[in-house]
Amino acid sequence: MGKYDDFISLDISGMSSDERQFGKRKRIDRLKIPAGESKVIRFLRGPRDPKFYIVRKQHWGIPIGMGKTPPLPCNYSHFEEPCFFCQVVNDYYNAGDPRKQDLARRMKASASVMSNVIDVDDPFNEDGTPKVQIYQYSWRLFSDIRSYFQNPEYGDLTHPLTGRNFKISANVVSSSGDKSWTRYDVQVGASPKELVVPEALDHLYDLDAEFPVKHWSYEQQEQIFEGLLDPKGSPGQPSLTGKTPATKQIAAPDPLDVEDEFEPASKKVVQEEVVEEKDDWDEVLSDDESPAEPEDDVLKKLDELKKLAKGGK
Ligand SMILES: [Zn+2]
Repeated sequence: MGKYDDFISLDISGMSSDERQFGKRKRIDRLKIPAGESKVIRFLRGPRDPKFYIVRKQHWGIPIGMGKTPPLPCNYSHFEEPCFFCQVVNDYYNAGDPRKQDLARRMKASASVMSNVIDVDDPFNEDGTPKVQIYQYSWRLFSDIRSYFQNPEYGDLTHPLTGRNFKISANVVSSSGDKSWTRYDVQVGASPKELVVPEALDHLYDLDAEFPVKHWSYEQQEQIFEGLLDPKGSPGQPSLTGKTPATKQIAAPDPLDVEDEFEPASKKVVQEEVVEEKDDWDEVLSDDESPAEPEDDVLKKLDELKKLAKGGK
């Protein structure tokens, strides 16, 4: 009859689920493909999830004069309601003033697509767990990827047994001054391949939870534009100092020697329907780590532009 006979046993599994919930989730492991390199990835889809991606359409580069403005959701696209930023973009485009048009181009909404992926050549974390990463890519690249998915010849490309890997290459297509444009090209594996680490499917990020769409009202959007409201908080509460998800710099891998064979990108399905004007902007603006121009300079310039644009109306 010991004093501690009813001392219950320690819940170790609770510790690891807390770790999963509060520890890991803090930062998202993002797949980056440095310019000039390529990676072989597999798009992952949960067994009960009918989709392998989410789309977010956001306004980038909104000048507010108080530091870095996070990209903000387009209300028109996400909520089917009037979007203040779209209206500004529209007005500026039509203003006939090149400075305003430049501002409009930077501010216009662009879509990016997010998927769970695994880098086939780097599939494990240091602790031996599957290294699931988030890959964020442009609408243009999504259109290319989609055309493979829509080709019945390939079947379900996310299937763990009969799916295929994709090779994504990042090519610098042009540069002027200190800016450069990277184009991402995709090829599909020539034959089906088993998913390298099947357990990866138990470690997927919940895309909708990780990338919630903040709903700012039209009035709030206007206040943000005027610099009266800090968009880093959440629409409901007065500005908590929000944290933007830390992006982890992925070390550049050795150039890959891919043994997989890839079909030539020749079947470039004609996709003129979805080509947006000036697609280049999507690529540049949606890349968090684009070294294009020093952030401060851009902001300063945008602020000046905004002032000019407003005054010159
Ligand atoms: Zn919008």
